[in-house]
Amino acid sequence: MEHWVLGYESSIRLSFFLGLFVIMAILEAQFPRRQLAHKPMRSGRWVHNISLSFLASVLTRIILPISLVSFAIDCQASGMGLFNLPFFDDTSGLLLFVISLVLFDLIIYWQHRIFHFVPVLWRLHKVHHSDQHFDVSTGIRFHPLEILASIAIKFAVVFIFGLSAESIIAFEVMLNGLALFNHSNVKIPLSIDRLLRKFIVTPDMHRVHHSQIPSETDSNFGFNISLWDHLFGSYQDQPKLGHEGIEIGLREFNKGRKPLQFFKLLMMPFHSSQK
Ligand SMILES: [Zn+2]
Repeated sequence: MEHWVLGYESSIRLSFFLGLFVIMAILEAQFPRRQLAHKPMRSGRWVHNISLSFLASVLTRIILPISLVSFAIDCQASGMGLFNLPFFDDTSGLLLFVISLVLFDLIIYWQHRIFHFVPVLWRLHKVHHSDQHFDVSTGIRFHPLEILASIAIKFAVVFIFGLSAESIIAFEVMLNGLALFNHSNVKIPLSIDRLLRKFIVTPDMHRVHHSQIPSETDSNFGFNISLWDHLFGSYQDQPKLGHEGIEIGLREFNKGRKPLQFFKLLMMPFHSSQK
């Protein structure tokens, strides 16, 4: 099992990611929730957002000596981490798997909140929020340093809790997949949105988080399970200006009809950190 996991992990994740990216891109072009941006803005943003994501993947591969999955297998082999203690020997693997996914998602929720409120971390995360439009490409627009910080947190989580390789792969596929889904500009019928929202974060729910109104930016932090925002008081049902009127992005980048350039995005954390 371990060899199988290690051998196919990257291929599984990459195929799933690319497949879903293309599907969401087609769906949002066919059934847009909001009017599409004019073409130069749209294609420019896509080039910069995809470039950021590509750079983050390359840097991660170069910098990290070991993948998160290999690390989990090593932890398991040496009995490190809470779930690898003998106490959990009789616990069903399926139960631990489900607990691991929920636990990981809870930590990612709080990680997101902390990235909003700690100024130095907001400098990294604001690159994601500086996107003037909201579509599937926004879901991969993260500064490489934010990706590296997030991976460091995941290593700590795996070390502390001893999460299995299978649960990590499942979580990463779920996180990447739902990030593409809930950043997309796809029109979902209200009744289906209402039903989905009971369980997962939908595009209408996450769009509120990309509003320029600070109280809306600081709401709906969840990426996967919608429960956390209800539980921790950060849920906002709809944007004040409605989904057609909502202004996306950050006020400081309102000027200009051109998308922010790749190099400017890379240097953004080293400039001002106002929200
Ligand atoms: Zn955010």
